[in-house]
Amino acid sequence: MNKSDSERIASHLNSLGFEPIEDRYKADLVVVTTCGVRQSAEDRVYGIVPRIKNSNPKVKIILTGCLSKRKDVRKRLDNLVDVWLLIEELPNLNNELLKIKSKKTNNLSPSKYLEINPQYSSSFSAFVPIGNGCDNFCTYCVVPYARGREVYRPAFEIIDEVKDLVKKGYKEITLIAQNVNSYSSVISFSELLRVINDIPGKFWIRFSTSHPKDMSDDLIKVIGECDKVCEYIHLPVQSGDNEILNRMNRKYSVEHYLKLVDKIRKMNKTWNPPISITTDIIVGFPGETEEQFNNTLDLCKKAKFNMAYIGQYSPRPNTPAYKLEDNVSKEEKKRREYELMKVIRKTSLKDNKIYIDKIVEVLIDGKTRKGNWCGKTRTMKNIELGIKKEIKLGEFVKVKIIDAQDFGMKGELII
Ligand code: SAH
Ligand code: SF4
Repeated sequence: MNKSDSERIASHLNSLGFEPIEDRYKADLVVVTTCGVRQSAEDRVYGIVPRIKNSNPKVKIILTGCLSKRKDVRKRLDNLVDVWLLIEELPNLNNELLKIKSKKTNNLSPSKYLEINPQYSSSFSAFVPIGNGCDNFCTYCVVPYARGREVYRPAFEIIDEVKDLVKKGYKEITLIAQNVNSYSSVISFSELLRVINDIPGKFWIRFSTSHPKDMSDDLIKVIGECDKVCEYIHLPVQSGDNEILNRMNRKYSVEHYLKLVDKIRKMNKTWNPPISITTDIIVGFPGETEEQFNNTLDLCKKAKFNMAYIGQYSPRPNTPAYKLEDNVSKEEKKRREYELMKVIRKTSLKDNKIYIDKIVEVLIDGKTRKGNWCGKTRTMKNIELGIKKEIKLGEFVKVKIIDAQDFGMKGELII
């Protein structure tokens, strides 16, 4: 979402006459798009903002994103930041405001920032936000405070953006929102996927993130029926223990989650290779016991995730969980993260081995350090090609898989 916001910031600044340059330390204006989901991301901001200002005292700094609303952050960085910008205020940022050297800009008025035409950073893969904000208030999470309540874009605007991207030759469209399943416009999210799937052209459709409490049977059906919608679902579970899920305010149970995984895999059983399911997990939520953590290990073994983004719990100011004692030690969080990763590596390797000798379609998205082309399957698996032959970035190729590791595979190009 931040990356996508930055693409809109870039095009808005472009319309004000600014040009991007390579070296951030030489810029007249620097926009820092911040993330406050974990303390580690927040700490990076405290490092980078003074570094930029020290290297060029004349620079103007705009700070936006998660941290731009937090009073304590504003206090801490106020002498370094020139414009505090909430992303929804972006359309009202103008040259007038940027010129006023002595005065701080603090309160612009909100507007429909998603209507701004973005300056996409890739020439073949694009994030298309379908909305912003979150109404779920998971007790550990800063997003509902940082991004505000859910606001969704009208369907026609999203469809027009995708049509335009396909016309320009984009091959991968990822629809994004904090909870895509609660999208509501004149049509539902599944209907929106159907309409986008009917846009002529060769391209893949992905979406993120799905909330397990709202994932409908209709959406599962759509993934099965629409040829452009990829066989890949990111379904964050956060914990495998019902009491912790309840204290996180996730509003589903382990049983509900596993039933959902089962439904997704059954729907997909005729496909080969099978659908990929990935997840997010938080280890060391306040009061998480060894037994509760073991329940998460159990869930991972049952759900057989293809990948998991495991985060150590990080207390976030203003959230309900902030009032609870962060009583799982750093070492213990690390150990739990490591134990979980061991399970995920195993299930992922097992799944990747199914691909050996199969021919799959790969979208080329870059080169490895060794100079080999690499890309992703529809199921979001990383594939490294064992050749250096000239193929193009953003090209679809057919690949025979010859080797599988835990988080990647090697393949040969089929001519
Ligand atoms: N809307 C998405 C997630 C957005 S935040 C969802 O509901 O899944 C991305 C991920 O950051 C979350 O899934 C969670 O695993 C992690 N996260 C959020 N707050 C956190 C915190 N306080 N400490 C550690 N991880 C956190
Ligand atoms: Fe945060 Fe929960 Fe909303 Fe995801 S659903 S953004 S974890 S509050």
